[in-house]
Amino acid sequence: MSETSPKLRAELAGIPTYKPGRPAAAGGPVAYKLSSNENPYPPLPGVMESVTAAAASFNRYPDMACAGLTAELADRFGVPAAHIATGTGSVGVAQQLLQATSGLGDEVVYAWRSFEAYPIITQISGATSVQVPLTSGEVHDLDAMADAITDRTRLIFVCNPNNPTGTVVRRAELERFLDRVPGDVLVVLDEAYREFIRDAEVPDGVELYRDRPNVCVLRTFSKAYGLAGLRVGFAIAHEPVAAALRKTAVPFGVSQIAQEAAIASLRAEDALLGRVGSLVGERTRVVDALRAQGWTVPETQANFVWLRLGERTAAFAEACEGHGVVVRPFAGEGVRITVGETEANDIFLKAAEDFRKEI
Ligand SMILES: *Cc1c(COP(=O)(O)O)cnc(C)c1O
Repeated sequence: MSETSPKLRAELAGIPTYKPGRPAAAGGPVAYKLSSNENPYPPLPGVMESVTAAAASFNRYPDMACAGLTAELADRFGVPAAHIATGTGSVGVAQQLLQATSGLGDEVVYAWRSFEAYPIITQISGATSVQVPLTSGEVHDLDAMADAITDRTRLIFVCNPNNPTGTVVRRAELERFLDRVPGDVLVVLDEAYREFIRDAEVPDGVELYRDRPNVCVLRTFSKAYGLAGLRVGFAIAHEPVAAALRKTAVPFGVSQIAQEAAIASLRAEDALLGRVGSLVGERTRVVDALRAQGWTVPETQANFVWLRLGERTAAFAEACEGHGVVVRPFAGEGVRITVGETEANDIFLKAAEDFRKEI
């Protein structure tokens, strides 16, 4: 056997690995997974039937153009079908955006702490991450982000609401920021949690994109729609960005099962909105209860809450697990807790209360 190994791109060295939220251990003391911002509900009405029907033909390749889903989305958002690009989850689409815009020597600007996929996919592209710290209120510092733009900047992520803090940027500040970004820099509005927003001052990215050719909106079926396991997300962007996304897509990446499930989920929107409403109600209950216990909780517009625990992060996550819920620790920084079913939230609140008594 040869002593040498295949040469790999230098950019791959030191890429942080994506840490998925831990599952609840089967048969163990842990009963609920509140670590990945998933939807706790079973499939929406009609979705299982569509998926089962599509499964009968998985010997065939899926529709590579995702034509049915694209038409449905174009209609739903009132945008041309040519402005929609689907992908293997919105992380897949985000990676395609980097492939389409950024390489060695280029810069990608985003807030930090934010979605942990950003540094990974940026590094894979060969570009350099420029991380702009959140404000002390855990919110995107849009002025500092605009100041961070250089001749090398190719792409900027704005995660709204921000994962893992749940905080939002509002219309006036976001428009002021977009006005400062040069037209040849792509701004990606990552709206994975759009459906959970109740603050009327948070703009819908689809409205902002309409007269701004350098704005691209990212949405996903993984969170509110409950299809995390099927891997389907999409972007809404002007040509030539949408066309570049079609060029960089993994051929046949979105399975027919995922396409049919997404279409059926869009058609079950009333039921979806009911479920989202229940989760928003639970969110209010969880935040209020935590504050009553004495915790500082940033205002969240997503389906999760953030506790900045610093060096007590790991201990808190362990304490939660002891009570029966898995949460998502970010070592040395804080813990993100998904708002789940009522029973799970109750267990979490009890864990938080007990922990608070000990410190
Ligand atoms: C969960 C999440 C996504 C969605 O990822 P998928 O690949 O669509 O499952 C995208 N952006 C953010 C900020 C997220 O938290």
